[in-house]
Amino acid sequence: MRILEELKGSSKIAIGGHIRPDGDCIGSCMGLSLFLKKAMPDAQVDVFLEKPADIFLCIKDADKIITDSSAELHYDAFVALDTNAERLGAFRKYFDAADLTINIDHHISNKDGSAMINYIKPQASSASELVFEVIDREYLDAEIAKALYIGIIHDTGVLQYSNTAPSTLKTAAELIGYGLDFTKIIDETFYEKTFVQNRLLGRALSKAESRLFGKCIVSCITAEELAEFGADSKDLEGIVSQLRYTRGAECAVFLHELKEQEFKVSMRSNGKVDVAKVASVFGGGGHVRAAGCTLTGTPKACVEILLPHIEKQL
Ligand code: AMP
Ligand code: MN
Ligand code: MN
Repeated sequence: MRILEELKGSSKIAIGGHIRPDGDCIGSCMGLSLFLKKAMPDAQVDVFLEKPADIFLCIKDADKIITDSSAELHYDAFVALDTNAERLGAFRKYFDAADLTINIDHHISNKDGSAMINYIKPQASSASELVFEVIDREYLDAEIAKALYIGIIHDTGVLQYSNTAPSTLKTAAELIGYGLDFTKIIDETFYEKTFVQNRLLGRALSKAESRLFGKCIVSCITAEELAEFGADSKDLEGIVSQLRYTRGAECAVFLHELKEQEFKVSMRSNGKVDVAKVASVFGGGGHVRAAGCTLTGTPKACVEILLPHIEKQL
């Protein structure tokens, strides 16, 4: 796909990603929008996302992301990145109303794509790597490179997870060639946590339970605990990955309470358990080694309903 080719008749373009946007979602949306603003200077390009975590404000124009969905707007084209249309949240209406829809994604649970034009590659490390594939290199600059690099870093765990392919490393190499201070970018957007985030991680680790004879590590943070720490759901990023780093564990399950008795479930696996398959049983999705869904009930009930599906695969 050449994105400029697909968008050549469009002068009002919207870009959106999934609810609770992560680094790849924000990086791919911002990378594409910075590219389009440069390559199509006469076009209007708007990015719609839920409010990103502050660490992502180091990306150019991240402060211009539109978080409000109350206006009735019409776009010539809507590009959905790092998700299918279902998880666009409140911005779905702009996608539905657009004359042209494009979906660029790497989720295995989004097999066919949700748009008129689909560029879906489940083997790709990240939506950001796919954006790099579809844009024209001549417009690449340090700001676009930074956005896409952050996306790749976040979805590959700093080029470490098994979704890291030779193409991912080549892309990352080309991106840092724009003079990115990658050490600082990785430290400040990926590893560094606020004091509160680290204390929450500590709480989640100390509450963790070892299930299925140590093959599955489970933990939970309730809404009450979040309030106690003066934190919000963006402060829980990375906890599930740390739970997985337990010797003998095949997977980790982390629950966080969105509202009373409603839990966002995050799952990570070493590869043996296909967590996308587990999530899909409950209407969620994701990747083999990283997936999520939403469940209702007590934390204990949520865990008990999930575990048999994990156990089946062990
Ligand atoms: P998370 O645990 O929220 O970091 O999600 C892990 C991976 O699964 C990410 O790639 C998410 O985009 C994806 N994911 C999480 N929840 C869902 C869902 N309900 N449907 C589809 N994909 C999801
Ligand atoms: Mn994502
Ligand atoms: Mn992604």
